Amino acid sequence: MLAIRDLCKTYANGVHALDHVSLDIPRGMFGLLGPNGAGKSSLMRTLATLQEADSGSATLEGADGTPIDVLRDKDAVRRQLGYLPQDFGVYPKVSAEDLLEHFAVLKGLTARAQRREVVDGLLKQVNLWDARKRKLGGFSGGMRQRFGIAQALLGNPRLVIVDEPTAGLDPEERNRFLNLLADIGEQVAVILSTHIVEDVTDLCPTMAIMNRGRVLLTGRPADAIAEL
Ligand code: ADP
Ligand code: ADP
Repeated sequence: MLAIRDLCKTYANGVHALDHVSLDIPRGMFGLLGPNGAGKSSLMRTLATLQEADSGSATLEGADGTPIDVLRDKDAVRRQLGYLPQDFGVYPKVSAEDLLEHFAVLKGLTARAQRREVVDGLLKQVNLWDARKRKLGGFSGGMRQRFGIAQALLGNPRLVIVDEPTAGLDPEERNRFLNLLADIGEQVAVILSTHIVEDVTDLCPTMAIMNRGRVLLTGRPADAIAEL
């Protein structure tokens, strides 16, 4: 689904955030596990076309099977990709429904009836239907993350990237969120970046472990963690 080869990124301060990263990411849930500073967000931002890499390549399989050059063909990537950044902000005084609708317009869903259908469907999918009229400022951390997922799913992406989504959630909200991600992983490719081992062992069939800009190992969680 996504082939990453020899990706390198060194920041101006000399930190090698990505040090020859190569990964093959299949459909379904893929876990990217690593401590703070491992380079996970740098990789996520690069894949989301928000940051340039110094060298290397990343190729995403497009809808009709044609390969998309992630580092160059940014528009094509953005059409296929949903991204939930770490600590994403919301507008506290706007209702969930209104903000999602607003982002739907930005995504090009200009026909009102179609947009309503998409927005309503997503609000139901992430279990925020009953809260749709409430202002986002009053949402719990878990509700915000579920709103973020709804936003990431606008435009029907083939790949969804979620960066540290469970940080700060209580156990119940965390489980709820992870179950939602697992459902989404049935339909599209999901990359879950996290520093929490259980996030990965609980629901990712395949994973990679990163540290100091390098991929240490990849495989099934049980095998990978046994090797550590
Ligand atoms: P993670 O998401 O795994 O915590 P990051 O990609 O955020 O890792 O960071 C990887 C390394 O790069 C860390 O040492 C971090 O301090 C550094 N870093 C991240 N962003 C920048 C930046 N914009 N400028 C300089 N250094 C950065
Ligand atoms: P940065 O990493 O520089 O904070 P982001 O892309 O995370 O950049 O966010 C840029 C701005 O867009 C922020 O002010 C944030 O509040 C807003 N933003 C990002 N994602 C969302 C979202 N899902 N919903 C509403 N606002 C968002």
